Amino acid sequence: MGIRGQRREPPRSEKRKVKSENQSSADGADEGGGLQRRTHDAVYDEIRLRIFTFHIPFFTFGRARANLAEYPVTPEVPQPRNAPEPPPMSDPARETGTDLMIKFDDAGLVPAIVQDHASGEILMMGWMNAEALGQTLETKLATFYSRSRKKFWVKGESSGHTQEVLEARTDCDQDVVILKVKSNGPCCHVGYRSCFYRRIQGTDELATVEEKAFDPKDVY
Ligand SMILES: [Zn+2]
Repeated sequence: MGIRGQRREPPRSEKRKVKSENQSSADGADEGGGLQRRTHDAVYDEIRLRIFTFHIPFFTFGRARANLAEYPVTPEVPQPRNAPEPPPMSDPARETGTDLMIKFDDAGLVPAIVQDHASGEILMMGWMNAEALGQTLETKLATFYSRSRKKFWVKGESSGHTQEVLEARTDCDQDVVILKVKSNGPCCHVGYRSCFYRRIQGTDELATVEEKAFDPKDVY
């Protein structure tokens, strides 16, 4: 049920009462039990009201009561209208099977993270279509798909800084690829060993934390 529905719901105390009555009639002739539940609920509500009031002293008792009546203890998560079906939680064939079943996105691409095989350093991230992935696995040279140029390219074809793929992995749902590579030279066209040469400072600043490995003017 959405937020709008919640607002129009009766106050919590009424809801509880209705629930208790329904329960007791379902139990059949269990009036005493129903009354006891109502009493417990009333005491519980009173305790919660007191805690709430004392912890937030500027709230009047009336406001606290109104607040409690308006919001359930565990609010339902509002679902947007026409929300798409959530994906299935588990896909055993993909997760534990032995077949390579890469899940390409709507554009036919999968992200590929490139990692130095020896140091574990993350060097870059690129996109692969099925053709680029196939060529990477066959030639053992990292090959990507350029979304801007709409064609695939072998890493290092112009700079000579190729990446020999020693191992390729994919994750549980097969929608990310990792290449463990031996780099023949620095990775980033800006001149750094890794594309991740800047650290995010706080929420909106960057600091360069790596030394340049080469001058791009000499290479490209
Ligand atoms: Zn880069």
